[in-house]
Amino acid sequence: MNDIDRRKFLKIAGLGALFGLTGLSMFEVVTKKHIEAAVEKYKILPNTLTAQRWAIAIDLKKLDEKIINDCIQACHSIHNVPQIAMQKEEIKWIWKETFEHAFYEMEYPYMPEQMKNLPVLVLCNHCDNPACVRVCPTKATFKRKDGIVMMDMHRCIGCRYCMAACPFGARSFNWRDPRPFIKEENSEYPTRMKGVVEKCTLCCERLEIGKPPACVEVSNGAIIYGDLANPDSEIRKILATNYAIRRKPELGTNPCVYYLI
Ligand code: SF4
Ligand code: SF4
Repeated sequence: MNDIDRRKFLKIAGLGALFGLTGLSMFEVVTKKHIEAAVEKYKILPNTLTAQRWAIAIDLKKLDEKIINDCIQACHSIHNVPQIAMQKEEIKWIWKETFEHAFYEMEYPYMPEQMKNLPVLVLCNHCDNPACVRVCPTKATFKRKDGIVMMDMHRCIGCRYCMAACPFGARSFNWRDPRPFIKEENSEYPTRMKGVVEKCTLCCERLEIGKPPACVEVSNGAIIYGDLANPDSEIRKILATNYAIRRKPELGTNPCVYYLI
């Protein structure tokens, strides 16, 4: 092999490795067809919903028990979240809290009971300055360019630093194999294993195929999502015309889930 052929071969082999075609023999990798197919696989799909900064707004005035349960059910069934009754081992991506608990810093002695007990949906805030990302020693938790705070389950070593760092309790640890606790497995979404942390992903797999987050879809208009960086987006207009609060903003994580009150 002369020098130019050798360089060409290494370049193509490098591309093969880049696109993860390691299961194929080197001779299969070097065909133009395979490289084109690999490039295609990594392209953004035509229907993908994109944003510069994804955010969510939850209208507390529109929430009721049914909507709350529908949101939890939709999220947890699509994402194969196991139903573990023991509170310490429970896995939650989205769940219900009382207003008093979710916004304890806003409590005052004469707050009406009705307000204290107002049901609130809580989830990962996909913070702009996420404490969980900073402490993860393996970069299993990372923030995408569009603001979604993600988990790579294969990198998670189960140290739970992220759980200690998150001030919102938005992360759950799989103390046991979750698979036997999944009622009806969705074969299109991966299951997790014992020893890893998980949480809401803002339904990035649905955004990728042009669908809204599952909780948004079943919320009957109580949950709005959109691009915070776009002044013409619905979420920006809603935030500009309503009073909204966020959970624990004083901690500096800059939560991107807003609550309309
Ligand atoms: S809510 Fe918690 S888990 Fe979610 S991004 Fe913020 S710090 Fe991380
Ligand atoms: S955005 Fe998707 S993953 Fe996150 S709570 Fe809603 S349904 Fe669950």
